[in-house]
Amino acid sequence: METPGQRPAKSDSRTGRPRTSGFSYFLKLFVRFRWAAAFSAGLTVFATQFYLGIESFAFLWLYAIVGLILLYNTAFYFYLEHRIQTGATSEFQDGSRFPLTRVVALSQILLDLLALFWLLHFAGGLTNPFVLFFLFHIVVAGTLLEPGPTVGVALFTSALIFALGILEKTGILAHYHPVAILGSTDPMRSWLFVLGLPAVLTVTILSLTILTISIMNERARRRDQILELSEELDRKNLKLQRVDRMRKQLLAVASHDLKSPIAAVSSYLMGMRDGYLGPLTDEQRRVIERSLGRLGRLKEFISDVLKWTAIERGTMRQDMHAVDLSDILRRAVEDYEEQASARSIAVDLALPKEMPLVVCSPERMAQVFDNLVSNAVKYSHDSSMVKIEARVEDEDVVISVKDTGIGISESDLGQLFQDFFRAPSVKSRFEGTGLGLSMVRRIVGAHNGRIWANSELGRGSTFFVRLPIRQIKPSMMPLPPG
Ligand code: ADP
Repeated sequence: METPGQRPAKSDSRTGRPRTSGFSYFLKLFVRFRWAAAFSAGLTVFATQFYLGIESFAFLWLYAIVGLILLYNTAFYFYLEHRIQTGATSEFQDGSRFPLTRVVALSQILLDLLALFWLLHFAGGLTNPFVLFFLFHIVVAGTLLEPGPTVGVALFTSALIFALGILEKTGILAHYHPVAILGSTDPMRSWLFVLGLPAVLTVTILSLTILTISIMNERARRRDQILELSEELDRKNLKLQRVDRMRKQLLAVASHDLKSPIAAVSSYLMGMRDGYLGPLTDEQRRVIERSLGRLGRLKEFISDVLKWTAIERGTMRQDMHAVDLSDILRRAVEDYEEQASARSIAVDLALPKEMPLVVCSPERMAQVFDNLVSNAVKYSHDSSMVKIEARVEDEDVVISVKDTGIGISESDLGQLFQDFFRAPSVKSRFEGTGLGLSMVRRIVGAHNGRIWANSELGRGSTFFVRLPIRQIKPSMMPLPPG
């Protein structure tokens, strides 16, 4: 089962390897480096003890520290492997404000620095040329951490180097003397020194080279991966847009072609109903009335689809005027008064004394309020009230359409303005297309306005439209065809 923050690991289309977050990959890469370093350190300690015959170092401690490095790296390795395999995406755990992987990286680096400090201490302190290995940790920190923590790590490293010298010099820590290796106080007399020191430097230089090349390679690989992903996204997006355009064209054409046969069938049926083709029985008349009702709804649906596809394609006429919304609101109320009074629904309209003019397409604004008022009446209980109110707020006109009808559940509210959305509870009880509100949202949006709704299931809904009074540019409207 998936847990939050985890998803099955996606694989790289070229390598088939799981796609890792770059950061986890770097962490794993450095764990491998540490293994190599710990093994080499173990071998070096072994060689120092048995081939160079030095007895002054604290070998037991040295082996113990090497063992410890291997141990905590194994733990880190399995932890990171687990994150990569499960495709863990969340960098944060339990609401912590520190990204988890950065915390892991910082702990690794600090543990390494402390391990190196003690390794050096038990093997000659500052006189040990492997003191240069402190450098690696700065490179690793620079790759994995933010600039702030990286500087922190650098300062901590310097402090450790100073501490190593001062603590051993003052006798707080014992100094494990390496002079026996050299056999003399003048190191240049010893081949071990003359060849050993350059060998250690060479190992350091080579390791740094391998480390930086690996980092650069990984960076390049990740950049390619991101490029490939973004191209893939672009391609998919284009394809989706094409399919969407075709879907809308098809809908528009199909709906348009359905209009004329429906009009023809309706007029034949009306002729029959009105007795032009001979007398009808009551039963025949009832069937014809029902058929006409069905055809009427089909016509409404087609007209909704056509308007919707027209808005989608920006093919509606661009007819911006300074308009008094009061007229549009009055007309919307008048259009539904009869339907409302048949169900004893009172429709109340409250307008401000002075209604500022709004620059808009009157045809489309009429469509907006027609839709909202028609919904308010449709989804109202009988013997209730619908209230439409317009008021001026700052630089805007806000129109609210309030009903005390069936209301909308909280989960449905979020999808209300999507194409074809209809609340599951209304589907079997009310006719509709689910296109009205999506159309309204587009029109209001094209006028630089905002639409939203408050609702409580079973208690009613209020829809708000906010339109700017300021002059708006005609370019905000969908363009005419061509
Ligand atoms: P429809 O043709 O279904 O009315 P709309 O796009 O106009 O399509 O509305 C989408 C859905 O929003 C409706 O099906 C209904 O579930 C819900 N809805 C819209 N207005 C109201 C309202 N005033 N009261 C309750 N539900 C509403």
